[in-house]
Amino acid sequence: MDDGNKKPKKNGPRFPFGGPQLPDPKKFGGWKFTIIYIVILIVGMSLFNYVFMNRMNPAIDFSEFKARIASGEIKRVELTDSYFTGYTTQRQLTQLPGLRSNMRTANVYRTVGILTEDFIRLLDNQGVAYYAVSREGSAILNIIFSWVLPIVIFFFIWRFLMKRLGNMGGNVLSVGQNRAVIVAEGDIVTRFSDVAGVDEAKDELVEVVDFLKNPKKYTDIGGKIPKGVLLVGPPGTGKTLLARAVAGEAGVAFFRMSGADFVEMFVGVGAARVRDLFKQARDKAPCIIFIDELDAVGKSRINNIAGANDEREQTLNQLLVEMDGFDATSGLIILAATNRPDVLDPALLRPGRFDRQVLVDRPDLKGREAILSIHSKAVKLSPQVDLAAVARLTSGFVGADLANIVNEAALLAVRGGRTLVIQKDFEEAIEKTVAGLQKKNRIIKDDERRVVAFHETGHALIAAFTPGSDPVQKISIVPRGFGALGYTLQMPVEDRYLMTEDELLGKINVLLGGRAAEELVFDKISTGAANDITKAADIARRMITDYGMSARFKNVALTQRGASMLGNQEQREPQFHREYSESTQQYIDEEMASIMETQYNIVKTMLSERRSLLDSVAVQLLEKETLDEHEFKAMVDAL
Ligand code: ADP
Ligand code: MG
Ligand code: ZN
Repeated sequence: MDDGNKKPKKNGPRFPFGGPQLPDPKKFGGWKFTIIYIVILIVGMSLFNYVFMNRMNPAIDFSEFKARIASGEIKRVELTDSYFTGYTTQRQLTQLPGLRSNMRTANVYRTVGILTEDFIRLLDNQGVAYYAVSREGSAILNIIFSWVLPIVIFFFIWRFLMKRLGNMGGNVLSVGQNRAVIVAEGDIVTRFSDVAGVDEAKDELVEVVDFLKNPKKYTDIGGKIPKGVLLVGPPGTGKTLLARAVAGEAGVAFFRMSGADFVEMFVGVGAARVRDLFKQARDKAPCIIFIDELDAVGKSRINNIAGANDEREQTLNQLLVEMDGFDATSGLIILAATNRPDVLDPALLRPGRFDRQVLVDRPDLKGREAILSIHSKAVKLSPQVDLAAVARLTSGFVGADLANIVNEAALLAVRGGRTLVIQKDFEEAIEKTVAGLQKKNRIIKDDERRVVAFHETGHALIAAFTPGSDPVQKISIVPRGFGALGYTLQMPVEDRYLMTEDELLGKINVLLGGRAAEELVFDKISTGAANDITKAADIARRMITDYGMSARFKNVALTQRGASMLGNQEQREPQFHREYSESTQQYIDEEMASIMETQYNIVKTMLSERRSLLDSVAVQLLEKETLDEHEFKAMVDAL
């Protein structure tokens, strides 16, 4: 389905206004280019000759030349078959005749002369030193000076420019051979022990390390190894660090490129660079390719204005081709990182590409303490420093923020003339950082945290007390990267293909539990439930329109969903059309409102009957930030 959508766009008319003129990377470095460069070189050398040779030796009339000898201005004359050169100094700066070496002198005259006896006599009378220069010697030197030297100079200028361009990432001339940028790093010293607070991500990556270390173990048994692993998480949570740790633990080479490196001003360069990267990596296998900021190349092609970013699209296509092209047993694993998984092209996430995703989330209390202790290994801490307390003060901070805090605290200690970092330094460092982070909406205020804690507890308790509901796996008030302030994870016990009406209502209840808890405890409701309300309303609507579960339209499907068997997940908007009248729409709206009201009241009652449990779980959650399955279950069972 989706391939059919994309292809016409790719092959169709691309950019009506000309666009970049060098679309094919193969032609790009071809003979046309060589000729252009030869022409430029010749023009350049002619200019060089013209400017240097002629300016040094202005040609004058022979009569004037003689006059200047007669007046005594010219004191030395060099005679060749083709011209005479007169110098106003006696000094011969070099013994080499052909070298017009008196570039330093003020006046050099040149003329096409006639060698007569009169002229020689004039020279003798004036006491001018004169000598002849044989043609062969000067010819060679002439060639050297007028051709070889400029070529050498131009060659160096060219090299210099290319290097500059190459460093800027815009290598125009050596397309696809840009080895300067793509270099494998060996001997990575980063280890998993340098990363903390992201244990789930680490657990998943351990397997990748094992594969890189003993590929045979996997290939012998015929197991399928992931080709690509996508690290997803907010900035500064340690994605890059984790990728390096994988390479370090496995002891393999590490190719790192940022998505932005691929996106060039010339069409074809990015694609060529991808090809080159994979070629090198294949030679170096086992190794890791790490593509940082994958979203820069991997943005969805679907909502692309036609031709708006051909270059990125080509690069992305090349990346897909390369990922499909290599054998999973070759010991090459591609890691990529992004903080915008939502914008990625779905093609990247298909099996055989980045089919494994690893969430690298903000650390919770324990995680932050561990990160702090990693980073404060290098600084001298006073024994009174309580890193757990520091961790408690830094809710919402990511690893990079915490590394920064430790550093800032050390600087404050130095400024205060101390030899050890004390607790106060940490507190001050946090204060300094908090202001900046609050501006960026990265951390939430205390009263908001309270609201979030009760909201999430509301979801969790309703889930716990709704028969048939999936058990709660984790409750957290650590803000998730993508908009959510907290989350409650439920894990299905088994795969479900059918749901009863009661179960659907139970789902609605769990979704409404958040807002109900807020209203019960704070007597006001917040925007935090927007997502829950949308999901709940969606279930309610489907119950009426799709599943025929309403009183009036029992067993009647009101919409016809486009039965798409393929590419279902990738289709952004399900195709369906309404098959009901305005009055039915009104009925649906009213019925939905009624379902929601009934369920909301049920939920509120459920929660108010368990108010003390709600309070104690929320308080616990505020303190610990995350509660796992067992901690939560213990509290519920203790009631
Ligand atoms: P990302 O790639 O996710 O934006 P980085 O890996 O570049 O984040 O993290 C920047 C720095 O912050 C790291 O070099 C490290 O010093 C510190 N850091 C980030 N996350 C962690 C972590 N989980 N454990 C230890 N240090 C971390
Ligand atoms: Mg990074
Ligand atoms: Zn919620």
